[in-house]
Amino acid sequence: MKRRNFHYVCMHCGAFDSADGMRYVCACEGAQNLRIAYDDVDVKTARGLRERIGGHGMWRYAPLLPAPQAFGSRLLVGGTPLLDCGDGDGVRLRIKDETRNPSGSLKDRATELAVAVALMHGYRHVVAASTGNAGASLACIAAAQGIAATIVVPRRTPSAKLAQIAAYGAEVVRVDGDYDDAFAHAVDMSRRDGVYCRNTGYNPFTREGKKTCAFEIAEDLGWRVPDWVVVPTGDGNILSGMAVGFAELLALGMTTSMPRLVAAQSDTSASIARDWVTVASGRPIPSAPTPAAPSTVADSISVRFPRDHAGALAGLRQSRGVAVTVTENEIRRASRHLARRFGLWVEPSSAVGYAAFLRCVQDGTFHAGASVVLLSTGSGLKHPDPWGDVNAALGKRARTRRPKPHDNGDTSAALRRPQ
Ligand SMILES: [Zn+2]
Repeated sequence: MKRRNFHYVCMHCGAFDSADGMRYVCACEGAQNLRIAYDDVDVKTARGLRERIGGHGMWRYAPLLPAPQAFGSRLLVGGTPLLDCGDGDGVRLRIKDETRNPSGSLKDRATELAVAVALMHGYRHVVAASTGNAGASLACIAAAQGIAATIVVPRRTPSAKLAQIAAYGAEVVRVDGDYDDAFAHAVDMSRRDGVYCRNTGYNPFTREGKKTCAFEIAEDLGWRVPDWVVVPTGDGNILSGMAVGFAELLALGMTTSMPRLVAAQSDTSASIARDWVTVASGRPIPSAPTPAAPSTVADSISVRFPRDHAGALAGLRQSRGVAVTVTENEIRRASRHLARRFGLWVEPSSAVGYAAFLRCVQDGTFHAGASVVLLSTGSGLKHPDPWGDVNAALGKRARTRRPKPHDNGDTSAALRRPQ
């Protein structure tokens, strides 16, 4: 079966590994992430590429992926709508609605490809550490592919996400610690038991799956790119995936420019924003991220050590991007606004992106008339009542009414009638 030729390249020291098997990290300076490099990013590949792109969802771009579509699942991953929200804020806003993916988040793009790579290498058991979305995604796609999944979750994981993981039949291992402890546990299990590890950042293929979101945005806009793309950012992996995708299209001559990326972070989980200040001033990307002390309702992007900080910082540099941090109050307001203005109910981490969008409109980062795409990364169903608003809303808006006494036309009364 033909697959696109690729190599592993260390993102820190640049070491090259053309191994045929699965690789995760380079041994230099601890465990540095790898990226996937192709030797066919040239005019020859680009020739006729638009004609070779076809089919549904993310596998539409199979010629640009490192695994053949034959290893993909039967689920429809990707192919999500780009909603035109008009120019009410003085800029043209479009929202890429990634909540439409099979498990309700953008993570499915990464999982679909990572699991295809696992099957390509003959693995039948996969593991991931997750605050919820990546775990639900892996549980979902492993179920569709008929392989075993183990999801390692931190102590505080929203119950809706745990319920979703369990529903797909995955084994759940709860670690009495935070995401970083869960991450280490999953890596240990992978090394010890030879299980395929999908940990975000650690597995170099997650970025390759996420880049298909950039491909879709460009194709939906007639192979033009927006001026800005706003990305809710925790681990930095979506940001680096978007950068990789847009950069690849540019290198292939499919597009003519690179959109500027906005890393949207909670101000308590802002490691990448902090390191970006030094990298933007011309300093090299640090080998380890500056740790944060997260305490945010946006659980999906609440991280102490971002696992793809190098990829995210490189993406910001390459795209002349910016990093924006927002407060818990801004996240809450943005969440309401998205639901009530656009009918889009998202989880708090996605609201972080909209809060950053509003900030960039207000402070003039976006010029008037700019074209902006915001990634809506996860559904509101994932974390339905983060602020405990449900009872308050019922108290204010809904009056309890007494039911009318049953008359003869009432079904339940009819059922009670003696036969
Ligand atoms: Zn290295």
